[in-house]
Amino acid sequence: DPHTNPVLKVEGISKSFGALKASDNVSIDLRPGEIHALIGPNGAGKSTLIKQISGSLRPDTGRIEVLGRDVTDLDTVARARLGLGRTFQISSLAMEFTVLQNVVLGALGAQGRVFSFFRNVMKDKTLLEPARRALERVGLQDEAQRRTADLSHGQRRQLEVAVALTLNPKLFLMDEPMAGLGASGSKVLTGFLDELRHEAPILLVEHDMDAVFALADRISVLVYGAVIATGTADEIRANPEVRRAYLGE
Ligand code: ADP
Ligand code: MG
Repeated sequence: DPHTNPVLKVEGISKSFGALKASDNVSIDLRPGEIHALIGPNGAGKSTLIKQISGSLRPDTGRIEVLGRDVTDLDTVARARLGLGRTFQISSLAMEFTVLQNVVLGALGAQGRVFSFFRNVMKDKTLLEPARRALERVGLQDEAQRRTADLSHGQRRQLEVAVALTLNPKLFLMDEPMAGLGASGSKVLTGFLDELRHEAPILLVEHDMDAVFALADRISVLVYGAVIATGTADEIRANPEVRRAYLGE
């Protein structure tokens, strides 16, 4: 229903790095229950856009609304508290720590909380219980005590989602969650995201076009920092400008 209030509304975001326009007047929104995929060639400005929405990079102009609130001037911690969850293109996990420790630490960091003694943190039931629940939800409950470095690539991706889940996000930003996953790993994560969307809609940057076409309710195509098309999978596949600019025809 296009009249439903979007959970995320990005209006006219622009961002330049010197002479390079990494975001060029981008407007995009995310509706309840939806997976909105953001695709485009390398260097198109996908990660830059995600960073501006999450708050780690300030737009030069434009406005960002989360759940009806203007968050343009809020930092990442304040946005996370409002329900904005994210996973990163580059892993932010501590490889020498256990799976469970990563969930607890990640959740603390995202909340902007400081901790003085790690061993006390790891005894805190108010942190451990949500952490264990999040691991269960992504199917990593049996790996809780394993060293993160010993996980498969796919399991690390699941762990990143678990870290974000402990904050009960109302919406997700995901930057290439399928990157480096094999076919079976992608399939597991695809199934998981397909369920997760009902709880928290997802703005999904993804190169894996099978996953994009399987999951996305809408797709936006970014080229040279600008959205050149937004539509359903069928509309995007049939769009001549997209085929020229992105699919290389
Ligand atoms: P994508 O995620 O679509 O591959 P990015 O958003 O990472 O693209 O990058 C978009 C463009 O902005 C690229 O040309 C990249 O080199 C440039 N860029 C990204 N971050 C910075 C930065 N901090 N300083 C200068 N240029 C940057
Ligand atoms: Mg990127």
